[in-house]
Amino acid sequence: MAWLPAVRRQWQSSAFRLAIKAANGSYQFSSLSSSLVDPAINNIIFNPQLSISSWKSFNKAGPGLHGLLINNSTRSITTDSKRPFAQVDLSSVTTVNGTPSEIKEKTETESKTVEEGRNSGFPKEVQCLPGLEPTKSGAKARIVVLGTGWAGCSFMKGLDTKIYDVVCISPRNHMVFTPLLASTCVGTLEFRSVAEPVSRIQPALSNSPSSYFLLAECKDIDTDNHEIYCETVGEKALGVHHKWQFKVAYDKLIIASGAEALTFGIHGVMEHATFLREVHHAQEIRRKLLLNLMLSDVPGISEGERKRLLHCVVVGGGPTGVEFSGELSDFIMRDVHERYSHVKDYIHVTLIEANEILSSFDVSLRQYAIKHLTKSGVRLVRGVVKDVQSQKIMLNDGTEVPYGLLVWSTGVGPSPFSRSLKLPTSPGGRIGVDEWLRAPSAEDVYAIGDCCGFLESTSRPTLPALAQVAERQGKYLAGLLNRIGRAGGGRSGDAKDIPMGNPFVYRHMGSMATVGRYKALVDLRQSKEAKGISMAGFVSWLMWRSAYLTSVLSWRNRFYVAVNWATTFVFGRDISRI
Ligand SMILES: Cc1cc2nc3c(=O)[nH]c(=O)nc-3n(C[C@H](O)[C@H](O)[C@H](O)COP(=O)(O)OP(=O)(O)OC[C@H]3O[C@@H](n4cnc5c(N)ncnc54)[C@H](O)[C@@H]3O)c2cc1C
Repeated sequence: MAWLPAVRRQWQSSAFRLAIKAANGSYQFSSLSSSLVDPAINNIIFNPQLSISSWKSFNKAGPGLHGLLINNSTRSITTDSKRPFAQVDLSSVTTVNGTPSEIKEKTETESKTVEEGRNSGFPKEVQCLPGLEPTKSGAKARIVVLGTGWAGCSFMKGLDTKIYDVVCISPRNHMVFTPLLASTCVGTLEFRSVAEPVSRIQPALSNSPSSYFLLAECKDIDTDNHEIYCETVGEKALGVHHKWQFKVAYDKLIIASGAEALTFGIHGVMEHATFLREVHHAQEIRRKLLLNLMLSDVPGISEGERKRLLHCVVVGGGPTGVEFSGELSDFIMRDVHERYSHVKDYIHVTLIEANEILSSFDVSLRQYAIKHLTKSGVRLVRGVVKDVQSQKIMLNDGTEVPYGLLVWSTGVGPSPFSRSLKLPTSPGGRIGVDEWLRAPSAEDVYAIGDCCGFLESTSRPTLPALAQVAERQGKYLAGLLNRIGRAGGGRSGDAKDIPMGNPFVYRHMGSMATVGRYKALVDLRQSKEAKGISMAGFVSWLMWRSAYLTSVLSWRNRFYVAVNWATTFVFGRDISRI
């Protein structure tokens, strides 16, 4: 059953009309009624006056429509006969006011426009890249992976490339080992130690004739035709402005495009703050920090300006904000005190958090972190940022905080790309998936990592945006698709009759965070209430280091990390501004 796209029409602002495209290509329109299903004309009516908070099913629907599930919070309606079911996503529908005859006319005209204008953001002449058209019978099935983060890379690592060709599309050609990214900002580790080239993770990308890595961004997905629309990445600094657009056909599509930093719409964050998510962010932070140190060392600079330049403000007291503050304070206490002795008393770190720092850890670990950070010179401020300007931030209580470096780390939310897709969403707005990580309304589409969340209909909670979730989802999905491929279901539409097997189950392995000066927090319990190891201090720090050293993906990078740590221990951090 294919019931997309849907067009919603408002009728005298009291009820909604839906135009549903049925599998035979015809459109069917709802009548003005407050009932949910009108069996006589086989369509759906959504009436906003009805307060429907949970999923309901209606079995007495008209021919072809066996059940109806409505969910107000995710704004979606699902028709459910037997799984896989079709879904109408109300976030992509439009509303028009008017008299009954105007509505009827507009509905009919615009329903056609919706169909013709699908993917209208992309010029019609855009072609599939040669060799990346729909796969022919006898050829290997093609899996397209969007993203080279924890989820996409763990998926590609586990994929059996004897069964599938793999095409990876991402604006970066490496995976970032994010737990160690904060250490690169102050020179504890080199940037290359945390970047793993994707062709090392999946060698088929560079040595198999029909597998490719393409440095591009996916802009849209045509789930009906099993095609994605992409644009290559330009780089203004290198004078590469021109971007090509192209299509790639897929048999299976894996969306692993991650999330984006949350700014809560606070004015000035995008313009003035630096995020800490990519290697180029860490490079920017390091360059800014070293520049400010050198500028403040210039004789004659005013006291106020020197203080401002050397004030490092971190917004967000989650593990990333805390680890970065800890690294900064280490850098200040050891390296700045030794090598920038003129200005050593001016440099400070302030960590601003609206609630509790490290709220996912239990109280005793949190208290340990607060005590340790304070002792290391990090000022902890409870406050809500209201406005960000080029040299100062304003808090809700009217306090002005001048800064030279501002790092923003307040969590993540759905990216504009995943929000733009016409796929149902989970509570919280991520791409909605079922227990097997499928986007159920679109055949052969799966989503993993930070970009996805379980649909409300699965009654499962949204998993935290963590590398360990993303990595295990990637691994699970590779196993699932390898099995489906071996059973002959690799090509588009061929997996319908193959049993899906065990659903994905997540078991939390615990959390760790370093707070600087050879100290860390380790909580190996599955939840705050569960029994298990929970400790802080030097032994935890050794555990933190060993855990991350062993989880670095390649021996090459493991070697780099170990050598960088040893070099920093013996000679101090590298402070050259390259
Ligand atoms: C500094 C930092 C420290 C962290 N520390 C920890 C930790 O200690 N433990 C832990 O469990 N988690 C940690 N995390 C969280 C963890 O890194 C994320 O949960 C994880 O990266 C999610 O993986 P992902 O593959 O879903 O997304 P990402 O790793 O964000 O990867 C997304 C990929 O998709 C690409 N992409 C984006 N848009 C498109 C598009 N339109 N088309 C194609 N490709 C696209 C991106 O370029 C990127 O390659 C940390 C995160 C940060 C930033």
